[in-house]
Amino acid sequence: MHFLDDLRMYTRFAWGLRKFLKRTLTIEEAKVIIKKRMEERESNFLRLVRKGIFGYPKSPYLPLMKLAQCEMGDIEIMVKDKGLENTLRSLREAGVYVTFEEFKGREPIVRGGKVIPVDVRNFDNPYLSHYYEATSGGTTGAGTRVAVDLDHLAECTPNLMLSNDAHGILYLPTCLWYGSFPDSTGMGCILRGVLYNNIPCKWFSPITKKNYKPALKDRMATHCTILMGRFFGFPFPRPQPLTFDQANQVADWAKNTLMAHGPCLIRTHTSMAVRVCLAAREKGIDLTGLAFVIGGEPTTLAKAQDITRTGARFVPSYWFVEGGVVGYGCASPVDCNDLHFFKDRFALIQYPIQVPGFDIKVNAFCYTSLLPSNPKIILNVENDDYGEIETRSCGCPMEEYGFSEHLRYVRSYRKLTGEGVTLVGSEIVKILEEVLPARFGGSPLDYQLVEEEDEQGFTRLSLLVNPKVEIRNEAEVIQTLLEELGRASVAADLARTIWDQAKTFRIRRMSPIWTRAGKFMPLRLIEREGIFEEDGQTAKSEP
Ligand SMILES: [Zn+2]
Repeated sequence: MHFLDDLRMYTRFAWGLRKFLKRTLTIEEAKVIIKKRMEERESNFLRLVRKGIFGYPKSPYLPLMKLAQCEMGDIEIMVKDKGLENTLRSLREAGVYVTFEEFKGREPIVRGGKVIPVDVRNFDNPYLSHYYEATSGGTTGAGTRVAVDLDHLAECTPNLMLSNDAHGILYLPTCLWYGSFPDSTGMGCILRGVLYNNIPCKWFSPITKKNYKPALKDRMATHCTILMGRFFGFPFPRPQPLTFDQANQVADWAKNTLMAHGPCLIRTHTSMAVRVCLAAREKGIDLTGLAFVIGGEPTTLAKAQDITRTGARFVPSYWFVEGGVVGYGCASPVDCNDLHFFKDRFALIQYPIQVPGFDIKVNAFCYTSLLPSNPKIILNVENDDYGEIETRSCGCPMEEYGFSEHLRYVRSYRKLTGEGVTLVGSEIVKILEEVLPARFGGSPLDYQLVEEEDEQGFTRLSLLVNPKVEIRNEAEVIQTLLEELGRASVAADLARTIWDQAKTFRIRRMSPIWTRAGKFMPLRLIEREGIFEEDGQTAKSEP
């Protein structure tokens, strides 16, 4: 049965790919597309609600609308009277929203004391045509399969073209250091490159035979897509396995390309860019002329300095798997994480929430997708990120397209992030509270995982173990943690692969930190002064 399903999926994807490979997009065309989408935001939203929710009997949003006593006609009137964002705010207040855990099917939707039965597959966009199902970057559990839809790839491309053009990097020779299927990031970059006529010339993949074996289905998909691209005359690169300690090879690629062609571009996750830069400095390579497009985790000051010290520059980007690209670095930024919000693709509101299990309040981001090719129907969905939305005139070319909102200080409030992979907290809590005490002694209060940045700027997940718990071999504790992650799901196993290589986990023998109100939280995330509130007060970062 699975085989037949896979076969159907390949055929559908391959059929779409034939058409996709014949398309091209100029920068002028990209500008026209963005302008049109900006003008049609409200009508795009109404179309999505009409077709994807009221016209789709299985939609999980329908019962929410019903509870809020809201019909299509009401939404039309609200949008007309008070605009899109205010409509979304009213809907949010009336209970029409979905938390990330609900969106992933890990928690039932409960509104007004009523449990709403939901099949998470019904969040999928019912109108997708040519897609491949990949796994989202490291989030765990069921329902994390994400469709790589070719129309969606195409729809993200104008945003990336205008952004890259604003930074003068659109047509630079490009190298990727991203995984292959089931991670769709690398192939996505290559396919988008077809549209604007700049296919990456080199592809390194952190997935190596030693650390992870993709399913046959995924290996076939990578292989066949490359073959098909080449058949149509495009020089698709093959992923070359490269572990984290071989980052010097990426630095060498940059050095050689800078010498032969001048300025060039590397696209990778933030921490991996830092690795390339550390390797370059060790070898005395000057990276002036190289640009990085980075993402997957926030660009902190320490990480930014590691990059710029080599002479390279960087452009931050912000994505989430279920929605695609959300923001891209401003070309005259106020700091290392100043992003333009892609208002043509999403509507974004903030809503104050108490984070369950974390004893903190944040202004959570609630996203609504506006374009018909989005892999999921997203209406006021929290993606577990929070931050600030700032309307400001920056004077960079992005502003000319109407992208006047900047996203600042974007952080996750419930997911652990490191090396571009994220893991939902609830998954790891079980290991901390049950598995480790059972195996090594002590109680759930003796183990705590703290997200922090080390001296070099790498994100580390430090496992604090109370010194009173006697542990003969600390490496064994880390090993147990990794093994348990590997067991959890395919995606958690992928996260384990990366974190194992990056030595993301480390042990610190100290008492876990309690909140000032005397509460114990098994996870502590990197905190942002000013917006991360703990016990009603602004929390200070731990030293
Ligand atoms: Zn700007």
